[in-house]
Amino acid sequence: MTLRLKDANLFKNNAFINAEWVAADSGSRFDVLDPATGEKLTDVPNMGADEARRAIEAAQAAWPAWRGLSARQRSRLLRRWHDLILEHVEDLASILTAEQGKTLRESRGEVAYGAAYVEWFAEEAKRIEGDVLSSDSPNKRVLVLKQPIGVVAAITPWNYPSSMITRKVAPALAAGCTVVLKPAEDTPLSALALAELALQAGIPAGVFNVVTAQQGNEIGAEFTSNPLVRKISFTGSTAVGKLLMAQAAQTVKKVSLELGGNAPFIVFEDADLDAAAKAAFASKYINSGQACICVNRVLVQESVYEDFIERLSKLAPKVNPGPGAAEGSTQGPLINQRAFEKVDGLVQDAVSKGARVVVGGQRHAAGAIFYEPTILADVQPDMSCFTNEIFGPVMPVTQFSTEEEAVQIANDTPYGLAAYFFTRDSSRMWRVGEALEFGMVGVNEGMGGAENIPFGGIKESGIGREGSKYGIEEYLEIKYLGFSGIQS
Ligand code: NAP
Repeated sequence: MTLRLKDANLFKNNAFINAEWVAADSGSRFDVLDPATGEKLTDVPNMGADEARRAIEAAQAAWPAWRGLSARQRSRLLRRWHDLILEHVEDLASILTAEQGKTLRESRGEVAYGAAYVEWFAEEAKRIEGDVLSSDSPNKRVLVLKQPIGVVAAITPWNYPSSMITRKVAPALAAGCTVVLKPAEDTPLSALALAELALQAGIPAGVFNVVTAQQGNEIGAEFTSNPLVRKISFTGSTAVGKLLMAQAAQTVKKVSLELGGNAPFIVFEDADLDAAAKAAFASKYINSGQACICVNRVLVQESVYEDFIERLSKLAPKVNPGPGAAEGSTQGPLINQRAFEKVDGLVQDAVSKGARVVVGGQRHAAGAIFYEPTILADVQPDMSCFTNEIFGPVMPVTQFSTEEEAVQIANDTPYGLAAYFFTRDSSRMWRVGEALEFGMVGVNEGMGGAENIPFGGIKESGIGREGSKYGIEEYLEIKYLGFSGIQS
């Protein structure tokens, strides 16, 4: 299949090591498919530990010169990268939709969202500030330096194949680190296009490298065991995050983990029900429900339960599943057959245990791995669709009677990424906002990410934050410098 791009040079099918486009040593390649049609887009190198090691060594070799640039110099290069990303937003969106399936509108939004991190951290590069602390002696001075941690190995998922990369690479580069990235098997093309633009922006050889692979485990093992790598930054499932954290323990690497979620959306009886229904809907069906902060469980106070379900069901016909590149589509396919089966299995399980299908509940006619926008009522908190991350366009709804019960159900999960609630009671806003055990809480909003907020989770949803003034800290080490012998 040929994509029509304004700049065909952005469509890359080799990996990127030390500013060269390279194949796997073995010559092995794997196919990249369009999930809407199953058609092959291209194939890319299936690399392993040897290529990962060479990329790490290139990043290590590039590090002294990169960290030696002034913050302003690094900032200007990042700014140039940002500008090029925005200049090519249409092509980048076409590539993203082709390999991931989301609608072109969503892809344009994601590219712009990802670029915003590059702009943000281009600015933050200039604000890495140390400290002079109070001393316990008149003859001593105590200083704190912040220094780049070193080579960063990053692993990213398929659901946001552009922005999950810039959210890591931009702060790492701004801090003065160099990066080796492994994108997801399903979506390597957005990563390679970003690498091409980084090259065009003048980011030096070895500073940003991309290795592609069909199975992440061999490259992951090299990333986590190679002593040159000082930091692992991972976005993906909790299961793989735990594995990488355990592997990285052998060489005591710093880790940032952005993992799975199980977001509750609580609707209290005093809420603006229309606003809540719209927010729940927007948060559930973005990216076909394949976002870590998507609403996963809707909890509605009993007195407004049926009313709220009716408001939700009236919004469902506005969703129009279809190929992401087709005019009028508002929801693309799921990423692959495995994802489809997981989502359908969760729905069938809930229905077999007594859940009521209000809307949807099956494959959509748009194609083999399209799923109907689905609302399930009378779901019980112990059903699989409530305890698992659904990652599909399915909204399970249950009822509760008291505020305490709502908070208890919401917190009853190993995950702690995002949570939302709607109420007009200002005391309750504070009480519930403070009681929810999640890294991000939306009060009267179903949030999205943004470069100015600290994005991340607690409990088994992860460690560390991306974006905001806190995001760059993940790539910096604190060094204490003590000066003694100063004559007073
Ligand atoms: P995944 O299966 O964990 O894969 C994520 C990445 O890890 C992919 O690049 C994958 O490569 C790689 N990988 C898999 N096994 C590996 C191993 N043994 N060693 C090293 N790398 C390995 O997750 P996913 O299904 O792609 O992504 C969805 C998950 O990401 C969801 O749980 C979602 O909530 C989470 N997510 C979290 C955030 C956040 O900010 N918290 C944001 C987005 C997504 P292959 O593709 O080659 O298998």
